[in-house]
Amino acid sequence: MLDVTRVDLSRHTTLRLGGPPGSLRTATHQDEIVQMVREATEPILVLAGGSNVVVADEGTPGTVVLLRSMGVGVQRDRDDVLVTVEAGQPWDDVVALAVAEGLAGIECLSGIPGSAGATPIQNVGAYGQEIAETIAAVRVFDRTANAVRDMAPAECRFAYRTSLFRHNDRYVVLAVTFRLRPAALSAPLRYAELARALDGDQGARAPLAEVRAAVLSLRGRKGMVLDPVDPDTYSVGSFFTNPVLDGAGFAALRARAAEVTGVDPAAWPAENGSVKVSAAWLIERAGFGKGYTGGHRGVAVSGKHTLALTNRGTGTTVALLALAREIRDGVRKVFDVELYPEPVLVGCAL
Ligand SMILES: Cc1cc2nc3c(=O)[nH]c(=O)nc-3n(C[C@H](O)[C@H](O)[C@H](O)COP(=O)(O)OP(=O)(O)OC[C@H]3O[C@@H](n4cnc5c(N)ncnc54)[C@H](O)[C@@H]3O)c2cc1C
Repeated sequence: MLDVTRVDLSRHTTLRLGGPPGSLRTATHQDEIVQMVREATEPILVLAGGSNVVVADEGTPGTVVLLRSMGVGVQRDRDDVLVTVEAGQPWDDVVALAVAEGLAGIECLSGIPGSAGATPIQNVGAYGQEIAETIAAVRVFDRTANAVRDMAPAECRFAYRTSLFRHNDRYVVLAVTFRLRPAALSAPLRYAELARALDGDQGARAPLAEVRAAVLSLRGRKGMVLDPVDPDTYSVGSFFTNPVLDGAGFAALRARAAEVTGVDPAAWPAENGSVKVSAAWLIERAGFGKGYTGGHRGVAVSGKHTLALTNRGTGTTVALLALAREIRDGVRKVFDVELYPEPVLVGCAL
């Protein structure tokens, strides 16, 4: 039976899933975060926007520290502007502010839910930009050293949707400093769909406000901007990362795709000769189209984007993970490619 008196983490996750925490504490500034983390009972969960976590229906037995620290500081550094943001500040506020102030570098990251402090964790990225490109420093509480310190970008080991901080509870991000460039125009647009939406070519630049508006519009159509009345947005965004294959792996996939679908998989060149394959393409072509439920109660593939798994309002984490497993296994069977989850799984596994 549902106990309506308990505080479920479902209130704090964009999937609207997750059971009760052992205890829940809210921190509103850096000193409070450090103190609460020091006092926390294991397993500790630092939670901000809850837009990249899948929490078990049973919840988590330890302390959840909810980050609600706010504040933005701006400082000139020769030709650049350094913007330092407290970890709990909603990320899209930062992008809106940068665009309004004529600061380029994060405009393509408009509309990503969650907090500024979480952006380094999985090196958030979208529409051809990654946050690692603009991070100047990350202020952390290092739980092992029991000290606060500033980390340089090279120490953070940023890579595609990951960093030193991911799946690592040693560091709690307290604030992030971004190095932005005063400019009326965006950085060169790397993403073809975005360039097209702005009537430009890949590599062209466009006014910052126009880039932000175009990104928000593209994201909105895919259910990738939070909307409280649209269950297609009760998700973690992309549930799986795009697989990165080496030359031989991609050749094998192309052969398989030709056999099964008659066309080449959607893919882009990645680092060191590897190829990034569209997970959405693989999922769709493996037979899991938009709106697919597989009979799993209360959950479905988003009606707007194949890569987002959603809670239709009555789902459970068990059902969501069963759907995710079915999709992962289906893609493996049809294409012999492994999909890995993008969100952090808390108290549960795929
Ligand atoms: C509709 C939708 C669209 C999305 N689109 C994108 C996208 O385009 N690109 C993209 O990269 N991501 C996207 N995401 C995923 C998500 O928004 C980002 O990963 C975001 O940065 C998570 O922030 P959060 O504050 O919600 O983190 P949470 O969900 O609260 O936490 C996520 C993980 O980071 C850890 N964490 C959070 N804050 C801190 C901190 N200060 N210190 C240490 N650890 C911390 C948590 O412990 C947890 O492990 C999307 C999600 C949704 C729901």
